[in-house]
Amino acid sequence: MSASLVQYGKAHISKGISRSTELVINRAKGAYVYTVDGEKYFDLTTGIGVVNTGHAHPTVVKAVQEQAAQVSHVQVNIAFHEPMIRLTERLRTYMPSPSLDTFFFWNSGSEAVEAAIKLARHATKRQNVIVFQGSYHGRTFGTMAMTTSKTIYSAGFAPLMPGIVVAPFPYIKQWSAHKADPVKFNEDWCAQEALRGVELVLKQQTAPKDTAAMIIEPVQGEGGYVAPPKQFMQGLREICNKNGILLIADEVQSGYGRTGKMFAIEHFNVTPDIMVMAKGIASGYPLSAIVSRKELMDLQPPGSMGGTYAGNAVACAAAMATLDVFDEEKLLENCQARSEQFFAGLRTGLNRVLSEKNKNNTKGDDSTIDVDIRGLGLMIGVEFFNVPSGFASQVAKEAFQLKTLILTTSIYETLRLIPPLNITKEETDLAVERMVASVEAAIK
Ligand code: PMP
Repeated sequence: MSASLVQYGKAHISKGISRSTELVINRAKGAYVYTVDGEKYFDLTTGIGVVNTGHAHPTVVKAVQEQAAQVSHVQVNIAFHEPMIRLTERLRTYMPSPSLDTFFFWNSGSEAVEAAIKLARHATKRQNVIVFQGSYHGRTFGTMAMTTSKTIYSAGFAPLMPGIVVAPFPYIKQWSAHKADPVKFNEDWCAQEALRGVELVLKQQTAPKDTAAMIIEPVQGEGGYVAPPKQFMQGLREICNKNGILLIADEVQSGYGRTGKMFAIEHFNVTPDIMVMAKGIASGYPLSAIVSRKELMDLQPPGSMGGTYAGNAVACAAAMATLDVFDEEKLLENCQARSEQFFAGLRTGLNRVLSEKNKNNTKGDDSTIDVDIRGLGLMIGVEFFNVPSGFASQVAKEAFQLKTLILTTSIYETLRLIPPLNITKEETDLAVERMVASVEAAIK
C-alpha cells in the first residue's frame, strides 16, 4: 500500500521538504511508529524532540478528546479561553525563575522566536540581534536570517531580515585538534575565547546601543548537539547586563525535560530575559510560547501580537496533560537515569567497535577514528572524527535497516538521539545495542 501513497505524496507534496525515509506512518504508540504496511519502527527521533511523553500518551489523548468536544477554537483577539489561563497558571510553577511570569502563546517554534525578537525590539528600542554560529531558529523569513547551521535554509531567499549578527559558539572539540592538550584547551579556555569573540562583535559589528538581544540555544540543536561551558553562558549574562542587551534562551528543542531539567538553561544557573518554548510543550499538538517579565511583556502595544490559531485550546489542553505526565511519571528523574545508561552503554560499545577498527590502522594518529559522545540528559550527540564525509548518514541508514529511526545534525559527522523521556530501561538497552550495531556496520 505504501508505494502508491509515496508516489502520490512525491508528486503532489512540495519537493522543498526533504525526508530521511519514505515511510508512511499511520499509527504510533510510546517509542514506536507503525507504517501502513504494518511495519514497526523504533523511534529515537520523537518527531525531532516533540513527543517527549511518547507517541499517543493516553493522558494526552484523553485531554485532547475532551477538549475537542468542549471547545476547540477561541480566537485570542476575541476572548480568553479557560485552557490557556489554566496552562499559564500551571506553567509558571515550572519556570527557571519566578521573574518569568507573563506568557504569549503561538503555534510553532519559529513564530515564537519571531515573537521574542518583536518583544526585544519593542522593549529596548534597538534593532540588532546577535545569534551564535551553528544556530537553528527556524525557516520563516525572520528566523531564516537567524539560522546559521546550514546554508540550504536561506540560500536563494534573500533579501533576508536585516540586523542579524553572528558571534562564535564555544565547542571545544571543534575549536582545537580533538587530541588537544587538555590542560591548556580546557572548558574555561573555550568559554573565554568565545566570550572574547562576543565582545569583539559588540566592538566591531553592532554597538551595544544598537543591540536589542542575543538569542542562544542552551544546548545547540541542529548545529551539532553541543552544550556550551557553564562559564560561557554566565559570561553572556554578564555582557548582557552590562550593556542593557536582553538574553533570549531558545529552548524549543532543549526545553521540556529534554536535558533532565525542565529547561536546559537551569544547568547554567542563568535566568534569561525571554525564554522560547515549543516542540515538547504539547506532546505533538501545535503550540509554542514565549515567557518574560511582566514589565517587559507589557511594553507591547495591545493588538501588536496574536493570530488566528495562537494558543489553540486543544493544544493548551494537551500541554496541561503533558505536565500531568511529567509529574505522574517523574519524567525528569527517568530522563537522568536513562541518560546515564545511554552514555555508559554507548561509551563501552563504541569504544569496543572503534578500537577494533583502529587496531589495524598503520597511518598514525591523524587517521585514528575517534568519537565524542556529548549532550545533556536525553539530548545526545555522537560525533565521529576521521571518518569519510557522509559517515553519520550511513550509520542512520544502517539503523534504518534495523528498523530504528535516528537523526543526524546539520553539520559534523554527528548523530543525534532524542528518545521519549519515558523510554524504559529495556528500550534503552535496545537503543544502545542498535546504535552500536549500526556504527559497526557502517565502519566496515
Ligand atoms: N528553535 C530551535 C532551537 C529548533 O530546534 C527549532 C526546530 N527544529 C525551531 C526553533 C523552529 O521550530 P518550528 O519548526 O516549530 O518552527
